[in-house]
Amino acid sequence: MKSKVIIIGGGPTGLMAAYLLSQKKFDVTLYDRKPTFGRKFLLAGRGGLNITHSECREKFLEKYGNSAKIFEPILNNFSQNKLMSFCEMLGEKTFIGSSGRVFPKSFKSSPLLRSWLSKLKNQDVKMITNHDWVGWEDNKLIFKTGIKRITVDAEITLLALGGLSWPKLGSDGSWMKILEKYNIEVSKIQPANCGFFVKWSNIFKNRFAGFPLKAVELSFKNKKIKGEFIITTEGIEGGIIYSFSSILRDNINEMGSTEITIDLKPDFTIEKIKELLLKPRLKLTITNYLRKTLKLSEVAIGLLMELKNKGGTNNHEMSNLAYVIKNYKITLDKPFSIERCISTSGGISFNSINEDFMLVNKPNTYVAGEMLDWEAPTGGYLLQACISNGAFVANNIINKKRQNK
Ligand SMILES: Cc1cc2nc3c(=O)[nH]c(=O)nc-3n(C[C@H](O)[C@H](O)[C@H](O)COP(=O)(O)OP(=O)(O)OC[C@H]3O[C@@H](n4cnc5c(N)ncnc54)[C@H](O)[C@@H]3O)c2cc1C
Repeated sequence: MKSKVIIIGGGPTGLMAAYLLSQKKFDVTLYDRKPTFGRKFLLAGRGGLNITHSECREKFLEKYGNSAKIFEPILNNFSQNKLMSFCEMLGEKTFIGSSGRVFPKSFKSSPLLRSWLSKLKNQDVKMITNHDWVGWEDNKLIFKTGIKRITVDAEITLLALGGLSWPKLGSDGSWMKILEKYNIEVSKIQPANCGFFVKWSNIFKNRFAGFPLKAVELSFKNKKIKGEFIITTEGIEGGIIYSFSSILRDNINEMGSTEITIDLKPDFTIEKIKELLLKPRLKLTITNYLRKTLKLSEVAIGLLMELKNKGGTNNHEMSNLAYVIKNYKITLDKPFSIERCISTSGGISFNSINEDFMLVNKPNTYVAGEMLDWEAPTGGYLLQACISNGAFVANNIINKKRQNK
C-alpha cells in the first residue's frame, strides 16, 4: 500500500517535496489556505525571479551565517546545479547574470509554476486549495474551509507554511500559536531583506522618492558593498540595503537607531575630489557646479542639499564637502514593517527538530522552508534554501520508508 503524505503549504518548499514524493509513488495531498498555490513565488517573479546564485558552495553557504552548517547537507542533496536542471526540466532554461545570480530565461515565475503544478497533477498529487490548517485534534489534522471544519488522518505530515512577509499572500505565521501549544520552540520573527525608515525633509522626499541612488558604496562596521538602493517617501530600500539589513536591524534592536555611511563617489579618492572642487564655481549654482565637476547624480546632490537644509554642513567649505561626499551619514530609525519585507528571520528553532527535520515533539510531522529559524540575503539564497530544504525532507521520508520495508 502507498504511504500517505499530507503537505500543508503550496509554496516552493511544499511544491518541491510534493514533486519528489509523488515521483516515488507516495500518495501525496497538498493543501493550501489560498485559492491558488505559490502566490509569494509568483510575486517574487514580478521584479525578475532570482532563483539561485552560481557562486562556489563555500561562498554560497556563508550567506546563511550561523545556519551554514545546517544547509551544507541540504545543498549537497539538492545543489544549485540541480535546481537549474529542475527549471530546465520544467521548460525554463536558466542563465547566469553578470553578478553571478541565476534567473530563468523569462525572468518570471509563472511559466515555472504552471509547469510544476501540471507535473504534480500528472503524478497524481491531490491538490486542495481554500483549506486553512488550524491545528490537531486527537492526532488528526484540522482544516477550516468556508464554514466547514474537517479532520484528516495523516500518517506523515510536512508543514511548509512560510515566513511572515506579505501575509495577504498566505503565510501569516498563524502556525506559531499552534506549535507553541506543543512546546515547539519558535524564535522571534523579524523583518529581513527590508528597507528602513529615514526622516527625510519634505523637499527631499517629494523630489526624490522612487529614485535609485546608483554606484555608491555603503559601509557599516567593517563591511563595505558597492551598488545601488532606492529612496522612498519613508526611507531607503532595495539593492545593497538588503545585503546589510540583518546587521542593521540587529544594531537598531540594540541601540534604538543606527547610522550608515555612504560614499557618494567611491571611484574617486578624497584628494581627487578636493582637487576637482578647487575649480572656480563662476556663476554656476552649487547643484550645477557639483554635477559638472564631479558628475554627481541628481539624487546624490539632493542628499548633500538635504544636509544643507538641515544645517548639517556648510557647502561653501569645499574641503569639508569632499569629506561629506566620501562619508555621507544616514540615520536609520527602524526597519520597515514585516508586511512589506522580502523575507523574515526567526521561526521554528533547530533545537525542536531532528536531523531529518522531523519535529521532536510531534513524531511524523516534518517542517521545512522559511518557517524555520534562518535567514539569508536576497540573491537567490532564499528560494534555493526553501526548494533544497523541501527536497531534503522528501528524500529523508523516502529513505526512511525504504529502510522500514
Ligand atoms: C516581493 C518578494 C520578492 C522575492 N524575490 C525573491 C527572489 O528573487 N529570490 C529568492 O530567492 N527569494 C525571493 N523571495 C523570497 C521567496 O519568495 C520566499 O523565501 C519563498 O517563497 C518561501 O517559500 P516557502 O515555501 O517556505 O513559503 P511560502 O512561499 O510563503 O509558501 C507557504 C504557503 O503556505 C500556505 N499557508 C500558510 N499557512 C497556512 C495554513 N495555516 N493552512 C494552509 N496553508 C497555509 C500559504 O498560503 C503559502 O502558499 C521574494 C519574496 C518577496 C515577498
